[in-house]
Amino acid sequence: MVKPLHSLLTSILLTQKKGYNITHLLVTHGHPDHIQGSFVIKQAFPSIEIIASSDVAVEMGKSANGTLAFFNSTIGTFFQFPPYVPAPTPIMPITNMTIDGEMIYIRPWAQAEAVVGSYIYVPSLEAILGSDLLYNKVHLYLVDASLDGTGPNWFSNWTKILDNLFITYPNLKFVYPGHGANGSTEIINNTKQYIETFTAALFAGGSTYPSVRDAITTKYPDYAPSSLNFLDMALKKWYPTYVPPSTIPPTNTPTNTPTNGPTNTPTNGPTNAPTNTPTTLKPSTNNGLSLVVCLILLVIVCF
Ligand SMILES: [Zn+2]
Repeated sequence: MVKPLHSLLTSILLTQKKGYNITHLLVTHGHPDHIQGSFVIKQAFPSIEIIASSDVAVEMGKSANGTLAFFNSTIGTFFQFPPYVPAPTPIMPITNMTIDGEMIYIRPWAQAEAVVGSYIYVPSLEAILGSDLLYNKVHLYLVDASLDGTGPNWFSNWTKILDNLFITYPNLKFVYPGHGANGSTEIINNTKQYIETFTAALFAGGSTYPSVRDAITTKYPDYAPSSLNFLDMALKKWYPTYVPPSTIPPTNTPTNTPTNGPTNTPTNGPTNAPTNTPTTLKPSTNNGLSLVVCLILLVIVCF
């Protein structure tokens, strides 16, 4: 379950009021919007144990500060993520937990939306809590996949993971994405299609950043406008001269006119590693800054 911070706290309070006992918070991966609210919950509910797979816990320790700086520099005029993150209790990468007799599977993924992560499958509910492997009507955060630096590997790895969900869980019915509303397995197909649309436009011969942005915004006009920040961040990785339309002064002519083409071979699209690191990204001054401050996680409720 991923919700804006205050919304999640409200949900937890209501859940507690109904007599449920929340025992764990699972940190699914190391992105700040999925960890930075955990300290508030821990303060409010000290008995909740914060857990993460051992590789996610290690990754958080390695990259939390750098990623946090990147996020704060990008959306920081709107919101600064707090610096304190409680260290989670590491658990093994593949873990089955039983809570009140209900089995839940915590399963690892790697080299997709982030370098490592976890999702949950609950067999009795035929439900997956997919973490940021899955998005629903929210533009995908493709920056880490773009940082792979070897081309489409992380993108194709991500879509393979999505394909395998159907093979591994043939009875799967309910999907809880990392961003966006829950729904059916259609969310898995849509997430895969988004990645394929982006990469097809990106690696098309003669691609430019407007052509890639247009391909996405034309195909997904109803996706959360504030999440265009995610798309802009990814484009900035592939086209260092890219300036998001919202940052171009209004006196300028067409907001989508490229000032430079792609930095890589036109016939092959971008094939080189992005040269700038996350902290060198220009902050977006998009007033939509409203990149929803999502919180973690999967709240494990003990009935
Ligand atoms: Zn993420």
